Amino acid sequence: MIKETPFKLLQYMGVLKLLRLSKQDELTVICLHKISNEKNMFWQPVSPELFEILLKYLKRNYRVITFAELPFVKKGRKPYAIISFDDGYKDFIQYAVPLLKKYSMPCNHKFVIECLNSNMIIWTEKLNIIFQFLNSNDIRDDIPIQGQTFKFLNNWKEFYFRVFKKLCSIGHEECLQVLDYLILRHDIRLEGQMMNWEDLKSLDSNIVEIGSHTYTHRALPNVSSSALMYYELYDSKSELEKELQRPIDVLALPNSLFNTSILEKALEIGYKHVLFLNDETSSYQNTTFINRINIVQENASAMFCRVEGVQKRIKKLFKHG
Ligand SMILES: [Zn+2]
Repeated sequence: MIKETPFKLLQYMGVLKLLRLSKQDELTVICLHKISNEKNMFWQPVSPELFEILLKYLKRNYRVITFAELPFVKKGRKPYAIISFDDGYKDFIQYAVPLLKKYSMPCNHKFVIECLNSNMIIWTEKLNIIFQFLNSNDIRDDIPIQGQTFKFLNNWKEFYFRVFKKLCSIGHEECLQVLDYLILRHDIRLEGQMMNWEDLKSLDSNIVEIGSHTYTHRALPNVSSSALMYYELYDSKSELEKELQRPIDVLALPNSLFNTSILEKALEIGYKHVLFLNDETSSYQNTTFINRINIVQENASAMFCRVEGVQKRIKKLFKHG
């Protein structure tokens, strides 16, 4: 017992069960990205093993549905959950689909149209690959962004977040220029890791419900042109609808960045559900704006606690206490 983590203790003490019992009126939406054994210290994918443990946990304790089933939810012994994926990484086909089939559980996956069209990698993943390369080769070069020089101080993750934050605040084209400069300068190989249209169409629609993750995954609050905003929100939806011949009702905001006018535009365009990433659950009174809990690579007990909101509660306690 000495080796047990505090999270495992909470599990044994029945705390997770109590938290779940209080979820009768709450919807738990899980958010996942890459499922793979790849190593990246800046955005570590969830391993297929941990993903299977998550599915078993959800199967045991929740009724897993899709967004399309939300209008039909009924009170029952188990609360509802939705498994949602963002970005459209190719490893989804190799690792996630077989396990979702094995446990007959549906999910929702949100795609970036530019990636489906040209197999390109979203900018955030490019940044993860670049930093992994710099870190593993111990290259501590300065990174110039808009006349500002970003220097490695003494912590790789802190350096990464500083650069990430800056890139989120500038125009998309400038952001891509910075990343391309680094890729070229260090001769970094980017593997083709995103799904294309053929991959998307091969997914079983009984297992995978589809949503939009915009056209280019750019930081939406930086978009000042309404034509460009329309392209990101509307064109992404309509291209998916045209190709798949089914309605696309779900939008996930890239990096969960938004303002009220983006949310209004999304509803005006016809999305029924707009998804955030804030480690909260949602109430059935509002299924238009939906919170999600981000799953990270950690031990199983910590992940179960995360699903039940333990870490978020602890964080809040420290913030207010
Ligand atoms: Zn994303």
